[in-house]
Amino acid sequence: MNCPKCGASFPAGAAYCPSCGAPKSEIDRLVREAKKAAAKALDAGTAALDRAAKAIEPTLDRAAKKIEPVINDAAKALRPVAHELSRTLDGVAATVKPVADTVVRVTMEAVDRAAKATGPVIEKAADATRQVARKVREKTMKR
Ligand SMILES: [Zn+2]
Repeated sequence: MNCPKCGASFPAGAAYCPSCGAPKSEIDRLVREAKKAAAKALDAGTAALDRAAKAIEPTLDRAAKKIEPVINDAAKALRPVAHELSRTLDGVAATVKPVADTVVRVTMEAVDRAAKATGPVIEKAADATRQVARKVREKTMKR
């Protein structure tokens, strides 16, 4: 530990401070006083914080009470906007739905038509291939 009077290092078990000559009992008393002062300061600090918290509490309550109607007003003001927004989204959905339905129907019709169109085309191609094959066979038979 250090001598609280002069700050010099105080050897454990020494009766006097080697730097300033303060007696161990005097140093012990000073240390005790310093500890007491620190505890008192801590207590005072805690008490002051408690007092400050208690002093602030009603202010915070008042602020909360003052803000509450503002928040309620904002909520009240926003509610019709939210309604309007959801109604608009419903409107968009209602507008998009038939379009989407039409797209699906048209696509399905196109696929159907494509299937109907490619069917005969493939048959025709098969026919043409058969005819070519027959002609090739006839020509090779003639040789
Ligand atoms: Zn000293």
